[in-house]
Amino acid sequence: MSFSHLGLSEKVLAAVAATGYKEPTPIQDQAIPHVLAHRDVLGIAQTGTGKTAAFTLPMLTLLEKGRARARMPRTLILEPTRELAAQVEESFAKYGANHKLTVALLIGGVSFGDQDFKLTRGVDVLIATPGRLLDHFERGRLLLTGVELLVIDEADRMLDMGFIPDIERICKLVPFTRQTLFFTATMPPEIQRITEQFLHNPVRVEVARPATTLATTAQFLVKSGREDFDKRDTLRRLIHAAEGLKNAIIFCNRKRDVATLYRSLKRHDFSVQALHGDMDQPARMAALDQFRKGEVTLLVASDVAARGLDIVDVSHIYNFDVPFHADDYVHRIGRTGRAGRSGTAITLVCGSNDAKAVAAIEKLIGRTIPYMDAPDGAGTASESGAAAPRSNGGRRHGERRSQGHRAHGGGARQPQRPANSVTRIEEARTRRAPQPPARSRNDDGDAAHLPAFLLRPVPVKA
Ligand code: AMP
Repeated sequence: MSFSHLGLSEKVLAAVAATGYKEPTPIQDQAIPHVLAHRDVLGIAQTGTGKTAAFTLPMLTLLEKGRARARMPRTLILEPTRELAAQVEESFAKYGANHKLTVALLIGGVSFGDQDFKLTRGVDVLIATPGRLLDHFERGRLLLTGVELLVIDEADRMLDMGFIPDIERICKLVPFTRQTLFFTATMPPEIQRITEQFLHNPVRVEVARPATTLATTAQFLVKSGREDFDKRDTLRRLIHAAEGLKNAIIFCNRKRDVATLYRSLKRHDFSVQALHGDMDQPARMAALDQFRKGEVTLLVASDVAARGLDIVDVSHIYNFDVPFHADDYVHRIGRTGRAGRSGTAITLVCGSNDAKAVAAIEKLIGRTIPYMDAPDGAGTASESGAAAPRSNGGRRHGERRSQGHRAHGGGARQPQRPANSVTRIEEARTRRAPQPPARSRNDDGDAAHLPAFLLRPVPVKA
């Protein structure tokens, strides 16, 4: 089946042809005709299913009629994170190449003046994070009474991040008669309630959860010592021994740990960048860009910052921490093995709490994840790099090849630097520092939602 039967305009079809897509994905096939028929849509789909185009393409077609008025956006797309918002903007640029539409982005870290100028002239598509949108609204820079179509994307992630009250407020600020497209990967009761309150007789479109489409990713668990120090050592050895490692995302549960691990890997001369919610917007964009272009090999990231990012070709995923929520495991793993490519995902496991979290993941994905041997010598090297892994990652040749993990030419790693005493002192401090109590959910969020004094970027020591 091609795109031509969906009812999209000629301009949109030409842009789709230019991207090289041959046929619509299931969510596009099922949702687009209903969006074009002005129906509300409840889409149950994850990123990676083509859901962005499922709303972008029909929106472009609908927007061909009518024009924007000053300070009154015609359509509004809400995204939980700045990166997702920026990604949707890129989609509009790509699929809207044949249109003359104005798209504005209201997210933290993007120049207020530029966006305000666009709003004054009138925008067709406004893409925003909820907190930043309400900031603009409260300052009187924006009227929401002209919104004809509202998209709420990644609603379950909005729930995780505490944005649901903002979403409810925004839904009440836009006209009752607007069309609403609502996307979520899961349907917890709170989300169910919102859909009942704000969607009018929606068409429900559901596509297979990625939990059932992980066939192209080889998954392993590896036991590690409990101390962060041991975990970092295990991770370094795993990376060093990885077969065919082209690039990797390393996930931590907390943004504080992202920064610590990033510094440690950097100190060990890995080619690495970090992505977490405390970085300012230009730094986040620059980190992502470097990783996408292959200028750095490793990206240490938190779940929220990395959620839904469209990085097509990631060879390895490392879970430095077992995610608190089983769903997050599915999202993390979804960054590799995309579009039929093979990938490897390895999760460090230490202690009984991790084992419980792994059991929940295995229940969700409906399969057991095998343990692989810890790399030889893991947990015994000096953190400062003095006793760094041998060039074959401390592994006897020939081991574990069947697990997709063998000696690697050190693509991610540059030559060792001598240990230095400052590093050792810093690491010792890190290890002794009192730890805050464990939190029940990931602590990364959209900084735009926070009071201004919390928005100041925390300097990350290189
Ligand atoms: P999304 O779920 O929106 O994050 O999209 C995931 C990826 O699929 C993106 O890289 C899109 O460019 C790509 N994509 C979207 N629609 C199609 C399609 N019909 N055929 C092939 N790739 C697609």
